[in-house]
Amino acid sequence: MLDIRASLDAPAAAPTAIRREDYQAPDWLVPEVELKFGLDPARTVVTARLTVKRNGGHDRPLELDGEELELLSLKVDGEKREARFEDGRLVVDLTGAAATVETEVVIAPEKNSQLMGLYASGGILCTQCEAEGFRRITFFPDRPDVLSRYRVRLEADKARFPVLLANGNPVEEGEAEDGKHFALWEDPFPKPCYLFAIVAGDLQCNADRFTTMSGREVELGIWVREADLPKTRLAMQALKDSMAWDERTYGREYDLDRFNIVAVSDFNFGAMENKGLNIFNTRYVLADPETASDGDIDAVAAVVAHEYFHNWSGNRVTCRDWFQLSLKEGLTVFRDQGFSEDMGSAAVQRIDQVRTLRAAQFPEDAGPLAHPIRPDSYMEIANFYTATVYNKGAEVIRMMRTILGSEAYRKGTDLYFERHDGQAVTCEDFVACMEEASGADLRQFRLWYSQAGTPTVRARLEQVDGGATLHLAQEVPPTPGQPAKQPMAIPLKVALIGADSGREIAGERLVMLERAEQSISFAGIDEPAFLSINRGFSAPVIVEADRKPGEIEALAAGDSDSFARFEAGQELMIRDLLAAITSGGPVATDAILTAVGATLRSQSLDPAFKADAIALPSESLLTDKLDRADPARVHAVREEVRRAIGNALKDDLSRAYTQASAADPASLSGADKGLRRLRAATLALLAAGDPQFGAGLAQRQYDEARTMTERQSALMVLAMLGPDIAAKALDDFYARFEDDPLVIDKWFAVQASVPGEATLAAVERLQSQPAFTMSNPNRLRALAGSFAGTPSAFHRADGLGYDWLAEVIVAADKLNPQTAARFVAPLGRWRKIEEGRAAKMRGALQRILGEPGLSKDVFELASKSLG
Ligand code: ZN
Repeated sequence: MLDIRASLDAPAAAPTAIRREDYQAPDWLVPEVELKFGLDPARTVVTARLTVKRNGGHDRPLELDGEELELLSLKVDGEKREARFEDGRLVVDLTGAAATVETEVVIAPEKNSQLMGLYASGGILCTQCEAEGFRRITFFPDRPDVLSRYRVRLEADKARFPVLLANGNPVEEGEAEDGKHFALWEDPFPKPCYLFAIVAGDLQCNADRFTTMSGREVELGIWVREADLPKTRLAMQALKDSMAWDERTYGREYDLDRFNIVAVSDFNFGAMENKGLNIFNTRYVLADPETASDGDIDAVAAVVAHEYFHNWSGNRVTCRDWFQLSLKEGLTVFRDQGFSEDMGSAAVQRIDQVRTLRAAQFPEDAGPLAHPIRPDSYMEIANFYTATVYNKGAEVIRMMRTILGSEAYRKGTDLYFERHDGQAVTCEDFVACMEEASGADLRQFRLWYSQAGTPTVRARLEQVDGGATLHLAQEVPPTPGQPAKQPMAIPLKVALIGADSGREIAGERLVMLERAEQSISFAGIDEPAFLSINRGFSAPVIVEADRKPGEIEALAAGDSDSFARFEAGQELMIRDLLAAITSGGPVATDAILTAVGATLRSQSLDPAFKADAIALPSESLLTDKLDRADPARVHAVREEVRRAIGNALKDDLSRAYTQASAADPASLSGADKGLRRLRAATLALLAAGDPQFGAGLAQRQYDEARTMTERQSALMVLAMLGPDIAAKALDDFYARFEDDPLVIDKWFAVQASVPGEATLAAVERLQSQPAFTMSNPNRLRALAGSFAGTPSAFHRADGLGYDWLAEVIVAADKLNPQTAARFVAPLGRWRKIEEGRAAKMRGALQRILGEPGLSKDVFELASKSLG
């Protein structure tokens, strides 16, 4: 019997911006929540019983968010009520200081293609609530500063859904009517609703245990489809390593009796830190050396660690509002980076982190979507899970540790976790703890939270007998909404290297650049010195140094800081590539060949470092450094250099390739991974220099491959040499891994990443393959993300690459706005591209915006990208 019926859809009105400065504490708190799920993919009934308490002395009604919910009934303190909706919210008038509010709603998980709220993935029912998915499950004040204790009862068909999981600890389970069963779970820790999760499905468990530092036993479970169980071993090891690392490094102990991870194949991003019940994209759980590359395996460990670390940085201490997202994400990325540095080679990790930052965050900071790590406004919060909030956010935490020192930093995090345990707080609260624990003054440093844009630091070393002066100047570029900037506090690790001796003649020191211009002097410098600056990438800035003749070459050959050495090599390559791109002439390759040759022949450098050091800067990085680049020209010049390296250094490359082939396929040690990385890098260059030779080598490597790392890198080289050369391996690859969706994603990604204008046709053919579907985000990213990330393929002179992407965005938006919106940014980079193509990119954005019924997600990014 239905007494009330109301249906709510996403608002159709033009989206409005939400502003950070408008924050107000919640009118009502919800200390207790009782939920009952009658689970069924077609029709799930959710009964919610909220204990609400008036927060402060006001007379405003209780307002509950809800989206795509069919309301069956509403009761207040046991009495039926008529429902009243205002601006898409359920408004409940209450007179007293507290009440019990009960709702009964119906949702349809199998029709949920947005993958937010409760949805079905390969027969599993699961949830995703961050940021605002809980309102798609039940009526609730869906905001992170409302913390509740949850009691959850799940009921479902026992044959189809033998496993029923929720946050916290299991309390009871048993049989129910009609072949159903139930499970009751309780989470003792108050949490915001974005951390709520349930799972129901036919899952098998890789079970293990962990004893915490205070001697408590925790049951660990990784839940997957039966066939995937053998691929969960590495994730389980990573979980146990993470738990031990967080105890050792941050003094953080796990707090529940259970920790569960579930893997699902349809997921909008990487993974989610729901309290005690993390839900992961299969991509970041399932891995073994035959089907996952070393890079994939490292990513599994990093994401397992990341989500686990959120239990303290995110769950025990959470965010007051979504503008504070970097409070948990920046800190947690920094923590997972520390874990990866300690588990592998710190130097190589740092190079990877910086490479990611430059590839994903610098362009964001330099483009129309630039925002501070703590944004001031948004239309759709899902659009702010960005490289800026995550990765630049992590750099900001790292800078604080650099400035305060590790010990004071740790005192600061201890204070933060102790003082704010159980609270929803702000970035400001974190910085205040750092200041209090260390006595440091971080007033100016806070600008990193409010000012967007990557600072540029200009550096010039002046030497007069017996001393040296470093002249520094900084500039923070204007960004949307922030035309003028104040000087930032920039920690720069600096050393001087003797031009003749090659030794550090002024040992590393930390220079704080705090003014627009500043000079620092070094005493007792009596030999010509070279400047090693921003060592270890101590600040996320662009350094433009005045270089003496031979300086960069010398630093690339021998800087005592391996990160700075890598950087010098890159600076040298960028210098010579840019000179050729802008002059229109051939590239002067001498310096590059000397540096790459010396790296290859070095007896002391480790193979992973060599692989990084011989890789040319990416086309998109070169484009970012140019004014209105022609992507075809950038590609041609870079290829010319790859060819030159492959030709001139064929012997060195071959020798390194052969030596690297000794990697033990069964080993995942850093040394063996490094060898495989070097093998892939040298194979690619050998093929660039001599395609025929390279084709033979790559085919043999493919045929003899024992690991996915070897197989995938060989396949990529073959694909780049042309469709005829790659055909046999591509067919073999498909047939071999047909039943493994994560590997078939690679099959799509490899073909969509081939440079050149012919790739679009291949991408269109792939799109009509039966294995292609837009409803699976991994598959869509494998095709559209790879294509849009390959500049010479995407930036066809005729603009058809843009048209294709725009059509994909519009079609995907109807299914899944969050995932569709991720593909808008490449079109927004038009300011960096020559005018002919740029006009076509704007045209594609305009066509997207002309589409009726566009989501808030795509609307926000497309309109800002044109602006
Ligand atoms: Zn996170």
